[in-house]
Amino acid sequence: MAAEGRRPAAPPRRPAAAAKPALPGIGGATADKLAKLGIRRRFDLVLHLPLRYDDETRLCPLGEALPGAELLVQGEVIDCDIKYRPRRQLVCRISDGSGELTLRFLNFYGSQVKTLAVGNHVRVYGVLRIGHFGPEMVHPRYRVMDPGAAVAQALTPVYPTTAGLGQDSLRRMIARALADEPLGETLPQALLDGLGLPGFESAVRLLHNPPPDVAQAALQGRVHPAWRRMKFDELLAQQLSMRVHYRRRRAAGAPVLAVRGQLVDALLKRLPFRLTRAQNTVLAQIRDDLGQAHPMQRLLQGDVGSGKTVVAALAALQCVENGYQAAVMAPTEILAEQHYRKFADWLEPLGIRVAWLSGGIKNSVKKQELINVSGGEAQVVVGTHALFEDAVVFKRLGLAIIDEQHRFGVHQRLALRQKGTQSTKGLQPHQLMMSATPIPRTLAMSYYADLDVSVIDELPPGRTPVATRLVSEERRDEVIQRVRDACIAGRQAYWVCPLIEESEKLQLQTALDTHAHLQQTFPELRVGLVHGRMKVAEKQAVMASFKAGDVQLLVATTVIEVGVDVPNASLMVIEHAERMGLSQLHQLRGRVGRGAAESTCVLLYQAPLSPLAKERLKVIYEQTDGFEIARQDLNLRGPGELLGARQSGVPMLRFADLAVDLDLLDAARDAAEHLLREQPDSAKAHLARWLGGRNEYLKV
Ligand code: ADP
Ligand code: MG
Repeated sequence: MAAEGRRPAAPPRRPAAAAKPALPGIGGATADKLAKLGIRRRFDLVLHLPLRYDDETRLCPLGEALPGAELLVQGEVIDCDIKYRPRRQLVCRISDGSGELTLRFLNFYGSQVKTLAVGNHVRVYGVLRIGHFGPEMVHPRYRVMDPGAAVAQALTPVYPTTAGLGQDSLRRMIARALADEPLGETLPQALLDGLGLPGFESAVRLLHNPPPDVAQAALQGRVHPAWRRMKFDELLAQQLSMRVHYRRRRAAGAPVLAVRGQLVDALLKRLPFRLTRAQNTVLAQIRDDLGQAHPMQRLLQGDVGSGKTVVAALAALQCVENGYQAAVMAPTEILAEQHYRKFADWLEPLGIRVAWLSGGIKNSVKKQELINVSGGEAQVVVGTHALFEDAVVFKRLGLAIIDEQHRFGVHQRLALRQKGTQSTKGLQPHQLMMSATPIPRTLAMSYYADLDVSVIDELPPGRTPVATRLVSEERRDEVIQRVRDACIAGRQAYWVCPLIEESEKLQLQTALDTHAHLQQTFPELRVGLVHGRMKVAEKQAVMASFKAGDVQLLVATTVIEVGVDVPNASLMVIEHAERMGLSQLHQLRGRVGRGAAESTCVLLYQAPLSPLAKERLKVIYEQTDGFEIARQDLNLRGPGELLGARQSGVPMLRFADLAVDLDLLDAARDAAEHLLREQPDSAKAHLARWLGGRNEYLKV
């Protein structure tokens, strides 16, 4: 559908002047404002649906007007004055015979004083309240009118808008678009009948111009069938675009990495544990995918500590068994290094060379590793972003594993894939993406519809749950005592420094100060420090001595947030926990509770707490399940922030609300598959209508 832009030698684009203007009759300044609202072509005006409605269909006699509600009233101006106390304001009184009302304007123009002259009739819309001098409206909308003029026949739509673009002009432009644009049906009638949804044209017309007898509560609450139709259409467009994309990638060829087994079985035999049921299930899915002649595009989700790494290693082995290389990419040096050690531990005894590429290694070493990678001696390559530098050339890349995938940008993942494609003469490598930030099911179904998703939904046995304590900063001394006791008893602890978003420099300083201070506080303990600004080698040295038990207390910034695995560490103190987000807290807490010892996570907080911080701390205190935490995080923050980097390129939903429209999401997903298979023309028309040829989906 959007194949044009992908052709390597596209013809030069025609000058814009020759093209049909996207917004005919609308000037540049207005067009810029519309663009801010996401309106780029005329049809987008049709899809610009009201935020809410004002009810100007009924005139309320002033004698019957009740406070609290929005009302339309009218009357004759009987008094209009500029008052100076308590501050300068325009105060106007109107009467309709049944009662009186005060209109109060704290900011006003001279022209308003004229239009509100005594004797004029005005029609007023606003919220009535009871002030010191009886019923009043502050800053109501009003218009001078003939008292006999008819009232509106429909609810008045109020549109989302932006500074400098008034409701009236928006309404006019939308009305024109509704008159000129084709509003015909794109979806098969049988589909609509099955879901009990109205036709497109009647739904948009009703939403823009609701008739007086419309079910108002349903309309305002967005559960009216017309709303449901638009939400369904939106969800369907999203599903379609992502499935089109999925199919396109699937149409590419990939190396067939058949299930052979020798190496996989050998590692399974050597592991000191047995895979959990959940690990076995996802492994089976992955192994099956790898054997296909088209690229796997799978997201492996699992809570912190659920054991994704070993699944990745087993997948890498299946790749190696077939004579291809596997790449493992992690977003931080610490995590990549840790993966390297694990992979080397597991795979080298099986006779496999694991190469290590990061920004921090010596040039001479790197040179040799690059030769090993390009020559194929290294069958598995672990590294950071360094993996997609130009200098890295694979011999035959068959599988790219990307840990903590949400930390990578779209382009970075794409770069790795292209490297693979170059090394296999056009075959695309299989992709396994991993994430320990669980995403609620609805969000995964919606925003990850272009991927296959596997979930490890249980933790390995024998884990003792982490006890979480909320402790106010005032009781810091008790916490210090507790850290001392734990370390003296042979356990290890993390001390996580506060997040300081405004300044990285300040953050670093805080880490240094905290380290110095704790060293003083605990002269009998070996206190280490790790932060993001350290040289890679320094970081590695500190992590290694913490792992070896030489460092007892590790002061750290949030660099340890992802993936770090030191099972003997069983106590974590997080300073200023109120500044951190839920998933970050969950990730940090996941660093403890990895061994058999009972673990504790102390969240130090500074009172007073903002309502959001209070809510977050309550969730992290009460919940240990990452999926439940993610679900509550979604409620607190909305999908945009939860999805992070992925958000760019994925059309965000404007109308559908994943918290309430789950049934529509299910239906849209099924319908997308059906249409793409059975009625591709309908799918195409629907996409064109909703996305207007914009290639709004992810390009990975
Ligand atoms: P994550 O899913 O957060 O990446 P890891 O892969 O780091 O988790 O695994 C956490 C720890 O659990 C590691 O020490 C790993 O070796 C161990 N582990 C993984 N699978 C099992 C299992 N089936 N039984 C016992 N321990 C396991
Ligand atoms: Mg991990």
